[in-house]
Amino acid sequence: MTGCGSEPAVKPVTQADAAVRIQQAKQAKAAAAAKVKANELGQVPVLMYHRIIKNPGSDDDRTPEKFRADLERLAADGYVPITAAEYATGKIGIPAGKHPVVLTFDDSSPSQLDLDDLGVPRQDTAVAILREIAAKHPGFRPVATFYVTRDMFGKTVKEEQAQALLWLKDNGFDIGNHTRDHVNLGTRSQKEVTEQITSIQKQVNSLAYHQPVTLALPYGSQPRKKDWALRGKGDGVAYNHSGVFLAGYTPAPAPFTKTFDPLGIPRIKAMDKKGDCTQFCSTAWLDWLKNNPDMRFTSDGDVGTVAFPKFKAPFLRKDFAARALPY
Ligand SMILES: [Zn+2]
Repeated sequence: MTGCGSEPAVKPVTQADAAVRIQQAKQAKAAAAAKVKANELGQVPVLMYHRIIKNPGSDDDRTPEKFRADLERLAADGYVPITAAEYATGKIGIPAGKHPVVLTFDDSSPSQLDLDDLGVPRQDTAVAILREIAAKHPGFRPVATFYVTRDMFGKTVKEEQAQALLWLKDNGFDIGNHTRDHVNLGTRSQKEVTEQITSIQKQVNSLAYHQPVTLALPYGSQPRKKDWALRGKGDGVAYNHSGVFLAGYTPAPAPFTKTFDPLGIPRIKAMDKKGDCTQFCSTAWLDWLKNNPDMRFTSDGDVGTVAFPKFKAPFLRKDFAARALPY
């Protein structure tokens, strides 16, 4: 037997040995986390998109060229997309040293998803562009969350709606709830809020056997009691979302920190530095995160641990204490 010389080939393992080994393995993991400056209590940009179209009607729209450039920039800056469901449930499985970004698309417009009769996404739709950029950058996951309303990507035939939703599901995309009629929930009764949420949930469920994990509030407007958007029941179904997303204006806290609030998770509009967006949209915030790397979420490459510099320990949420890897 070849080996490292002085160690005997067979050695009885005592309980003390086992404890030492576990300790050593943890130290090795912490050292590896320190090496990549892992900071899993750092901030995560959740980008908000609406239509991807050639001739934008408003600042909410993005051209295919701009969307391509956004993704190229994210890849160059070391970001890897995760879904809103993965973010909100703390399943952030990306390589060591990489940063998560959540791509979200509201209002289920055909500019986001349009499939030909063989299920191939049409050119310049959001999913086609995302897959095109991912193919150019190995490791850049082509995933995103689509917040759907009753306007199911422009499809009115039930079977075609099912095709769209099933395609998303089969291709690793995440389907979230954006309410049935896209009403301002801030002015509605609990019954109306619940009905807006359960009806679309039932539709997604019956078409694609999928239960939305998160919800995006239309206009970012919270109901009178914020909790109504997170959990509720009516019409024979119940919902218990892992997160409810707003429409502005800052990066989001890591789901492992005490500052994470599932009732109102901020998002960032995808837009260049101009007008209202000089400071509070995606280009500005991505610049800021690049210039403040200590504030940004950096992965240790292990989905099971929450690695961070010891200094940040007071901000760790109790629920994740068992997974903590301070260094
Ligand atoms: Zn919307």
